[in-house]
Amino acid sequence: MNIKVQFCGLLVLIFLAISYGHKKRLNLITSRVYMGCLYSSMMCLVLDILSVIGIVYRNEFPAHLPEFICKSYLASLVLVSLIATIYISTTLSFRLHFYKKLISVFVVFGIVIEALIYLLPITMCEIPEESLVWTEGPSCYATYVGVFLLILINLIQIFRHSEYIFPRQRTTVIIWMFVWLGAAVIQAMNSHLLVVGFGCALGIATVFAQFENPELNMDRATGLFNYAAFNRYAEQLYGGTKDFYVIAVVFENAAWQYIGDPASVTKMFNAFLEIPGASAFKIMEKQVLLFFTKHEQVVSAWDSLMQRPKTKETEATYYLIENPRCGSSQRDLIELLQYVSIQKKVAKPGSFYVIHDDIVSEMVAQRMMTQQIFDALAEDRVVVYYQPIYSIEKKRFTSAEALVRIIDRDGKLILPGEFINIAENNGMITEIGKRVFEKVCRFFRENDLQNYGMQYIEVNLSVVQCADEKLADNYIKIMNDTKLDPAYINLEITESASVDAKQVLIANMERMIEYGISFSLDDFGTGASNLNYIVDMPVKLVKFDREMSRAYFTSRKAKYVMDAAMHMIHGMGLEIVAEGIETEEQYNMMEKIKIDYIQGYYFSKPLSEQDFLELLRQE
Ligand code: C2E
Ligand code: MG
Ligand code: MG
Repeated sequence: MNIKVQFCGLLVLIFLAISYGHKKRLNLITSRVYMGCLYSSMMCLVLDILSVIGIVYRNEFPAHLPEFICKSYLASLVLVSLIATIYISTTLSFRLHFYKKLISVFVVFGIVIEALIYLLPITMCEIPEESLVWTEGPSCYATYVGVFLLILINLIQIFRHSEYIFPRQRTTVIIWMFVWLGAAVIQAMNSHLLVVGFGCALGIATVFAQFENPELNMDRATGLFNYAAFNRYAEQLYGGTKDFYVIAVVFENAAWQYIGDPASVTKMFNAFLEIPGASAFKIMEKQVLLFFTKHEQVVSAWDSLMQRPKTKETEATYYLIENPRCGSSQRDLIELLQYVSIQKKVAKPGSFYVIHDDIVSEMVAQRMMTQQIFDALAEDRVVVYYQPIYSIEKKRFTSAEALVRIIDRDGKLILPGEFINIAENNGMITEIGKRVFEKVCRFFRENDLQNYGMQYIEVNLSVVQCADEKLADNYIKIMNDTKLDPAYINLEITESASVDAKQVLIANMERMIEYGISFSLDDFGTGASNLNYIVDMPVKLVKFDREMSRAYFTSRKAKYVMDAAMHMIHGMGLEIVAEGIETEEQYNMMEKIKIDYIQGYYFSKPLSEQDFLELLRQE
């Protein structure tokens, strides 16, 4: 009898089922569907064998039994292909929700084919001399059409939405479908070569080896689930509707690397993270995520982690993400942890930190702003506004401060308060700074601003730029390229946080001063720039911050400090700009106390290039 191939296929599948069964595994819907394929395909091979036996001994069985077995075998072939299609549709349904409805359509289609298989006639054929049997007739044709269409649907959905399917899953299922189709073609051309069931089993084994083997989800060093498993599990949770909760444990040391004996590492981690209801994933060298699907479980886990005795190996910081869903995917989750640990400079090891929704919105806003800056740089929407600075002595505008803005795609202005900080954190400030500087140089030169009485333009430098060893080179190159006389540039600095940064800044300043650029100290009186800083820094101007200029009118103490500071600054031969002067009264007071320059809305808000030129022309 031609049943050897089927036996081989069956053995392969039994082996897979056993090895799947006794491994630690994740609760994945798609894996369950896959197991459905595996079991139905085992059933298919058994029915295949039974139908061969049924045909050979058909005279010894009750009248319709062999025919029923043959049709059941055909029906099981359709079932396997239906579940294979659902396997991919389920994966897609996590991202594309209409697939949930499509699955029902596929099921109805499958049922119709199954009904046809049982309703249509079948012919059992045999060559007794060669002991070969097979079936033919309309019932078989319905099966071929059904299976072929389901495989086709499966391939179409894979190719159409390949970006939503894990690459390995995609490749292996494609291999499976083609091996199966190949077997079907062979069987269609030689009807007694019964290889369809075997072909399907081979395909299923491929998917197992490359994607569904639970071992592929394990981290060898720790015995926890690995990053790939995390990806699949999170995809399922974010694609579903049920709530879930996450605790992140960020270890101080990647202890598993140093403890040595793998078995004891595994034991330690399993014991340490043995928490009821948790699925634990090692997603980075020192990061473990615990996922929960029940609120009471995460609450009790959080408490029990707090109580747990801490050892050196397991020293860690803990984060509870109350509502991971306020991000939209696992990517947001990872980014959130990074964001919190970097931006919030969270705490020492051993601390417990609850991440609320507002931090997530903050992160998302920050990410959008990063994109906004990136696009603005690419599309040349970073522009410079100019705020004139009035000389009390000369009674006219003698300089201006260049202030950066981004124009968004709708033409709205975004002020530096919204993006400078973010750009400093992600390093984009260097590019913004260069862009602004270049624009200022060109603007000055193309319009010969010196002819309007402009002695120089003040340009802000971020502390990040000041600590950049290439700053002087970059800026001198821009000045050389634009051929602007360096005397027309004054760079505003603020106090740097670290000593190292200060060294680099001084070196940068010395090179640029030698080249001909002058400097001023911005934000004086805010804590970002103080008196002792003026002593060290080769600046020629000091800018009193808006708050300080204001405090002069409201606080007696501030008045004393400002008077004293002014006295010393003038004593050192430096000049003073008061920022944020809005009223005539404020202006008069500044004049009285002998401030040198005034910058503020009293004279003008920051203006676009055109408006600024207009203002200068009117003057
Ligand atoms: P800053 O350098 O102290 O600039 C002065 C800020 O005070 C400007 O805000 C200006 O519009 C505002 N201002 C001036 N006069 C008045 C007034 O009378 N009343 C009020 N309420 N505000 C006044 P802006 O343009 O929003 O810039 C804010 C900060 O962003 C700047 O403070 C500076 O630290 C930073 N910034 C601006 N442009 C750049 C740049 O190109 N590079 C860098 N690194 N930072 C920049
Ligand atoms: Mg400034
Ligand atoms: Mg300022």
